[in-house]
Amino acid sequence: MRIAMIGSGYVGLVSGACFAQFGHDVVCIDKEEGKIARLRKGEMPIYEPGLDKLVADNVKAERLSFSTKLGDAVANADAVFIAVGTPTRRGDGHADLSYVYAAAAEVADAIRGYTVVVTKSTVPVGTGREVARIIRETQPSAEFDVCSNPEFLREGAAIEDFMKPDRVVIGVESQRARDVMAGIYRPLNLIQTPMVFTNIETAEVTKYAGNAFLATKITFINEIADLCEKVGADVHDVARGIGLDGRIGRKFLHPGPGFGGSCFPKDTLALAYTAREVNAPQTIVEQVIEVNNARKKRMARKVIDFCGGSVKDLTVGVLGLTFKPNTDDMRDAPSLDIVPALQSAGAKLQAFDPEGMSEAGKLLKGINFTKTAYEAAFEADVLVVITEWHEFRGLDPRRIKQVMRQPRIVDLRNIFNPEEMRGLGFTYEGVGRPQPR
Ligand code: NAD
Repeated sequence: MRIAMIGSGYVGLVSGACFAQFGHDVVCIDKEEGKIARLRKGEMPIYEPGLDKLVADNVKAERLSFSTKLGDAVANADAVFIAVGTPTRRGDGHADLSYVYAAAAEVADAIRGYTVVVTKSTVPVGTGREVARIIRETQPSAEFDVCSNPEFLREGAAIEDFMKPDRVVIGVESQRARDVMAGIYRPLNLIQTPMVFTNIETAEVTKYAGNAFLATKITFINEIADLCEKVGADVHDVARGIGLDGRIGRKFLHPGPGFGGSCFPKDTLALAYTAREVNAPQTIVEQVIEVNNARKKRMARKVIDFCGGSVKDLTVGVLGLTFKPNTDDMRDAPSLDIVPALQSAGAKLQAFDPEGMSEAGKLLKGINFTKTAYEAAFEADVLVVITEWHEFRGLDPRRIKQVMRQPRIVDLRNIFNPEEMRGLGFTYEGVGRPQPR
């Protein structure tokens, strides 16, 4: 199959490279010239484990190429995927669909012969129909079908998720388009990936329902963690105790500073907005948004209280800034709430993140970025763990203690063992864990 991928960000680039790995001919398109220039030189514009090799292999095999112009790629394509951003629209929480509709109009002009136009971006219900309308209006004679194929990959594990997905959801309404989509995903038949064929609206709702459910699960365990802290219970044991119930499941029951990232915050908002518009309010999701926002704001207070009510003139070391490990993505990261609040309270911040410091530098000002985790702890009065990068788990607590001015840790991801840390002489606080009596 010949595929044109419009948008070469986290989703477009990973999906494009993986489709090429499936054996298809893929052109990844982006309007950002710098991004395409870097990709052509073999440089990745994002950090995603394994992506550089996957891209290099498929470029070498001549199945993957990059362009800033979509004309030829779309004209020759069996399927055009739209994987542009759908950020939150300023003011009201609705998804900003201007990039999707602009891409649809550009694609419409370039279609030659039967083409399936697929929305891979996360889009509110009704967007697929609007994309079809735009194409019909722009080129009335175009021969095409629209399809909704939401993406469920996680940053940091994106390639594995794409190559071995739990399921593929395809909203499609003609046999011809269904055959094209089945052909594109055929390699996944070998590993018996379930294919969920639905109508377009169902596929669109499925993506939001999935993300809203996961955001709810995180928020639920975060509130249970608050309860555990108050009553001397351990949230990890509670999570295990409930998670072993097959109806609940063990994943996404890890407490923390609140969810962030490029998807959950904006997708829960967009779902709530759409639902209110059609008078089917999602009150649970609305609560989740509110509780999570409040939680992210409260985390700085937790650090301040831990330091005895003030961080004025204290040096706070921070481990991890990205919204989760194995990505450089800073979108809606909890650190964006925590760091400025500590700075406003008079603290001096020094921070280390294995991949996120360049992105973080664009969004967070007045931080001293360090070269190692130990340097972030150097002469700090308190160390705050915000992101659970794997390499932080392997840090030597004795060495951390040696370099800190005061051995105090607020571990918002529970990466350290509380007894061990207290045994070594740290004053230590995690999330949802019993305090020493
Ligand atoms: P991104 O911002 O990383 O990438 C979007 C890219 O599209 C940018 O490089 C931008 O320059 C390009 N673009 C915009 N308009 C264009 C046009 N007309 N022509 C060519 N290129 C254009 O965004 P992302 O994180 O890849 O997300 C894309 C979509 O996928 C969103 O709807 C998002 O919700 C969804 N999604 C994201 C993830 C994730 O983990 N990031 C997971 C699942 C779904």
